[in-house]
Amino acid sequence: TPDIRIPDLERLYDAVRRRNPGEPEFHQAVREVLDSLAPALHAHPEFAEPGLIERITEPERQVMFRVPWQDDSGTTLVHRGFRVEFSSTLGPYKGGLRFHPSVNLGIVKFLGFEQVFKNSLTGLGLGGAKGGSDFDPRGRSDREVMRFCQSFMTELHRHVGEHTDIPAGDIGVGTREIGFLFGQYRRITNRWESGVLTGKGREWGGSALRAQATGYGNVLFAAELLHTRGEDLDGRRVAVSGSGNVALYSIAKARDLGAHVVTASDSEGCVVDEKGVDVELLRQIKEIERGRISAYAQRRGSCAVYVPGGRVWDVPCDVALPSATQNELDADAAATLVRNGVTVVSEGANMPTTPDAVRVLHSAGVAFGPGKAANAGGVVTSAFEMQQNSRRESWSSLRVAERLALAMRTIHDTCRQTAERYGAPGNYVLGANIAGFTRLAAAMLAQGV
Ligand code: GLU
Repeated sequence: TPDIRIPDLERLYDAVRRRNPGEPEFHQAVREVLDSLAPALHAHPEFAEPGLIERITEPERQVMFRVPWQDDSGTTLVHRGFRVEFSSTLGPYKGGLRFHPSVNLGIVKFLGFEQVFKNSLTGLGLGGAKGGSDFDPRGRSDREVMRFCQSFMTELHRHVGEHTDIPAGDIGVGTREIGFLFGQYRRITNRWESGVLTGKGREWGGSALRAQATGYGNVLFAAELLHTRGEDLDGRRVAVSGSGNVALYSIAKARDLGAHVVTASDSEGCVVDEKGVDVELLRQIKEIERGRISAYAQRRGSCAVYVPGGRVWDVPCDVALPSATQNELDADAAATLVRNGVTVVSEGANMPTTPDAVRVLHSAGVAFGPGKAANAGGVVTSAFEMQQNSRRESWSSLRVAERLALAMRTIHDTCRQTAERYGAPGNYVLGANIAGFTRLAAAMLAQGV
């Protein structure tokens, strides 16, 4: 019998596209979720209630603001700040801030939309949001970054709060930026409200392992994917893209589990290190010196080569962990990975794999871990940080590590079981989207319009 709901999803997608012109990443993120939902709408006709998906695809609130600040020469510069508060059905708005020149409203909306489903999938009491600015911290002095963060928070403080909206880091926002943002929030509000931001320094309310959590979590997720095939990470060749926080701690964790990580990259090129990437050297160059990855090959010696403009996906590997940014792994790269025998691809970044590339991987039988599930370790550990803050506690690394491992296993199993239950065994994209959707939709129906 013909299904009337599938054309409905098509029509809903068209409406989203028309209402949000010029936002291709947001369209892509919505399309991917809607493409997963038909089996869930069959099984739960109540979720096909008119207006429900329209509500899910429209942010509750979108804030855009001017961020004026002065650089070290005294010149006044103007950037644009964003906070898209997408959904507060399951808890206070929660999601990171991204400072990068590519940031615009469409990017922030795609990230906020993904965050809603990711946070729902964790089973925790977290709504979804994202924010950021087109400001580029690269090449800026600490004082410039401080002044920028202070100006950013001078507006943002009106919109955030431990029961309202809790930002964290993302690309370009780490412990340094969270510190400057927190200091300004505290000064303006006269409140020591530790739960207003996560990713804080360990000495002033931050959680053990928050910095490591996204990378560690993604490697644990990839290990779960391997386990379903009776394999593990020990002795596997792993390709990681990126060299930021997620990439760095993915490399460290994969190495701890016995893998051989042979790549890392930045926007200018990649390094291939046949002896296995030296995490300490990479961390020194990227986190301490805030330099480029080309320096890694110069200092590492003959085992490492730098390929200007190169992509890590050309390097043969068993496991690929895209950990840089959206749409970094396209269909051509996916075909290359498949040709070279990849068995697992797990997303450390948000939406790094294009829809065409996901199709290539799925049809080749590669186990694919979508970011909404695979990189949820970051926001899960943010929730641990919030729990510690509200109880005035500080948990040991061991305690956080155990909870993170359990959370990643649970998320993996939820995706796997959901995919199976809805007739698409092994399809973690469908599993993650439906599991995130059904929890959110049920709560929205319960709370009314
Ligand atoms: N930016 C991270 C993410 O993409 C973390 C968000 C958070 O901890 O709130 O999930």
